[in-house]
Amino acid sequence: MPTYTAQALVLHRRSLGEHDRVLTLFTKEHGKISAIAKGSQRATSRLVGATEPFTHLRLLLATGRNLDIITQCEIVNAFPALRTDIERLSRAAYICDLLDVFSHDHDATSSEAVFDLTCAALLLLTQPSEWLDSIIHAYDIRLLEVLGYAPAIEYCAHCGEPLQEPPFGFSPAAGGALCKRCHHTFLDAFPLPADALTALQTLRTASPEALLHYSPPKAVLPYIERALRSFIRFRAERPLRTVEFLDSLRAAVN
Ligand SMILES: [Zn+2]
Repeated sequence: MPTYTAQALVLHRRSLGEHDRVLTLFTKEHGKISAIAKGSQRATSRLVGATEPFTHLRLLLATGRNLDIITQCEIVNAFPALRTDIERLSRAAYICDLLDVFSHDHDATSSEAVFDLTCAALLLLTQPSEWLDSIIHAYDIRLLEVLGYAPAIEYCAHCGEPLQEPPFGFSPAAGGALCKRCHHTFLDAFPLPADALTALQTLRTASPEALLHYSPPKAVLPYIERALRSFIRFRAERPLRTVEFLDSLRAAVN
């Protein structure tokens, strides 16, 4: 059987028979693939820890007839700090969910950039931060940007003019933020306060260090959430499973 190597993040896993699992992996080299982790449901298997979602692995795989098979596996980073804190765990799960929704099997287009972006976001999630959602919202915008679906937030999504003078709007159908002239052209448009637009721009460009210290005014948080979520919902082929869970967590904390 031909073999190949890959660096991979585990997106999710499912049981296959009594002992095996099928892992959905996002690899740096080949994009999203599915592979069998033989024996990984046995308590004594070396692969037990390696099949946990968002574990970073270095793999040797054998090309199978239907699914490829993991033949060697080394854990690069298991992100233990994300597994003991429900706030961080839920956001790491969201990142994997978003990546799964927006990636296609065996499509290696931009896979290296996407892989590095995702590892960087998971690493940032392990750090103390002012506002934990800055990391996932920055990831929302930057992942869409790398994949070519970026929302327009510097220029009007409809007429292309710079967004200088409020009031602004936001429309998923238009492709992002709207200037005051185009605001009413789209039925799905809703108001976007200038502070919320500035926050979206900051999330798009801030350095990792700056993101950890960034916290926008509380009043604009619902607008950031609504803009990004509606945009992702419009673009994605299926709803994100982790969103409701994140919502209930946020409600419990506030
Ligand atoms: Zn416009």
